[in-house]
Amino acid sequence: MDPLDFEKWSNRAAQWGVDYRKTLRDRPVRAQTPAGSIYNAIPSAPPETSEDMDAIFDDFENLILPGMTHWQHPRFFAYFPANAAPVSVIAEYLVSAMAAQCMLWQTSPAATELETRMMEWLGTAIGLPETFTGVIQDSASSATLAAVLVMRERALNWQGNIAGLKSGPQLRIYCSGEVHTSIDRALWVSGIGSDNLVRIPTKGPMRSMDPAALDAAIKSDIAAGLTPAGVIACTGGTSTGSCDDLRAVIRVAKSHDLFTHIDAAWAGAAMICPEFRPLWDGVEAADSIVFNPHKWLGAQFDCSAHFLRDPDLLVKTLAIQPEYLKTHGQDGIINYSEWSVPLGRRFRALKLWFLMRFHGIDGLRSVIRNHVDWSVWLADHLRETDGFEIVTDPILSLFSFRLTSGEAQTQALLETINADGEIYLTQTRVNGTYAIRFQAGAFDMRRDDIEKALKVITQTARRL
Ligand code: PLP
Repeated sequence: MDPLDFEKWSNRAAQWGVDYRKTLRDRPVRAQTPAGSIYNAIPSAPPETSEDMDAIFDDFENLILPGMTHWQHPRFFAYFPANAAPVSVIAEYLVSAMAAQCMLWQTSPAATELETRMMEWLGTAIGLPETFTGVIQDSASSATLAAVLVMRERALNWQGNIAGLKSGPQLRIYCSGEVHTSIDRALWVSGIGSDNLVRIPTKGPMRSMDPAALDAAIKSDIAAGLTPAGVIACTGGTSTGSCDDLRAVIRVAKSHDLFTHIDAAWAGAAMICPEFRPLWDGVEAADSIVFNPHKWLGAQFDCSAHFLRDPDLLVKTLAIQPEYLKTHGQDGIINYSEWSVPLGRRFRALKLWFLMRFHGIDGLRSVIRNHVDWSVWLADHLRETDGFEIVTDPILSLFSFRLTSGEAQTQALLETINADGEIYLTQTRVNGTYAIRFQAGAFDMRRDDIEKALKVITQTARRL
């Protein structure tokens, strides 16, 4: 592509992005295309000769766009948000134009040094003590995998990477049943195996891991000749937002000299508001913490903030230095690729810098506080509406509800709502009970969007 065409199409793409965001409210949130329709509309072989950009762009608008679910839609109440605040989109344009590989300090010193500073800013913003050091991972799943690998290596006296697991002791890792499946996968990939992921029973309204049961499980494993390696706790579990009592859980883990990792992928963003920090009281004693600015905070995917008490343990687990990656003649520099499983890394800190400067932490706090207030408002209204039952109360901006008439009716309500497209919701199961899951978290959401949600949910239920 020659520079003039690049200019023309870059401008067109940027303008398209602006128009797209302006018209989001009028689009159905969830894609309405039947399965296979996009695949079947795309030719089965690539073109041998160059195609016209006008045709490519037209096909994008006509073929692809209808098959997109609009994650930036103000009435996206499904899963967790994946907010990309406009200012972070702008930063990503710049990053994608430069397209640097930021694996080593010398492959882009600005990317490394800005990352170090941004992780300090984020740590301060969420109230972590300065003793933590941060790195940006691509996803919470990667951060959790890295933490589990540290647990493994630490428990195997740093021999697992070399000797493998076959002849070593049987390692055990502990968590509640409320954690995300990225924890199961980390156990698979690390070779520890999900049979060695010990599920500790939960108790109380926050469905938090029972610390006494944790202690008993660790002691029983030790007595059976097994080797406990670490504990994974959650703040804001995916299904219902459950939160472990971090102070008590970490105390038990430390009494057995176990490494602790906290998954706060979604809820961590809310910790910029001091009033929500009791949810992770005791977090400052953890060894490893992950939260995703790419969920609720507004930093475009991918951007996962991973904080470590002692990053040397991570580097000891993951660093490998062939001659072609050595950085000669530079002392005291950080090569962040030694802190993560993948070698290649995108320049992720720029969007955080743009985001925090443009909105200010207080601006971001208002967004999150509104979401929490609006979600509580909706839960209160549904609680008072005949035929509805709140299954789990709001934790931050997440709650679940059902129709008292039963599972089939609740499922039908969800399907009818999503097929209409005004709002988008997903489901979960709580102790076997099917429930509709609601979270408020879209960056552009307004008060009237929650009123619309109430109207859609109650009117659809009445119609059914
Ligand atoms: N942990 C929790 C609590 C989550 O809710 C999710 C995803 O929603 C993840 C981890 C995985 O996040 P990622 O997609 O960044 O790997």
